[in-house]
Amino acid sequence: MTYESAPNYDDAAYDGLAMHCSDGRFSRQFNDFIVSHLGLVRCDRLIVPGGPGVIGGRPDAEPDGQRVLGELTFLCEAHEIDRVVLIQHDLCMYYHAKLGATDETLRAMQLEDLACAREVVVGATGIDRVEMYIARVVGRVVVFEPARVG
Ligand SMILES: [Zn+2]
Repeated sequence: MTYESAPNYDDAAYDGLAMHCSDGRFSRQFNDFIVSHLGLVRCDRLIVPGGPGVIGGRPDAEPDGQRVLGELTFLCEAHEIDRVVLIQHDLCMYYHAKLGATDETLRAMQLEDLACAREVVVGATGIDRVEMYIARVVGRVVVFEPARVG
């Protein structure tokens, strides 16, 4: 049984790179935000547990961080990317399970890591358009807002 995807193959220029967590509870909302709100229809996706948190400089994330930063740098160079979007989200299990976050410390850790991740991305790629967002759960609704860091 085959399946024919409605959108045609599109070989126009890449319009960015979006990095976010792999948490399936948020996958439709991440996609909706990236495509419908940001208008990135041909962006590369770097989807890993913890999202930008893996390149935020925390020692517990370091082994993942080096590999993922290499992948990010490769994609940005190979595809001539000039815009990077970093998204963190509420209820992130990577932070709780791997980085020792609590409900009380999660947001502050994520904001700190976003600021650090932005610096790391700018330093590694030279791209200065690096945007940061937080996906919050409000009732049953996922609300995206620009991250206010440092
Ligand atoms: Zn997560």
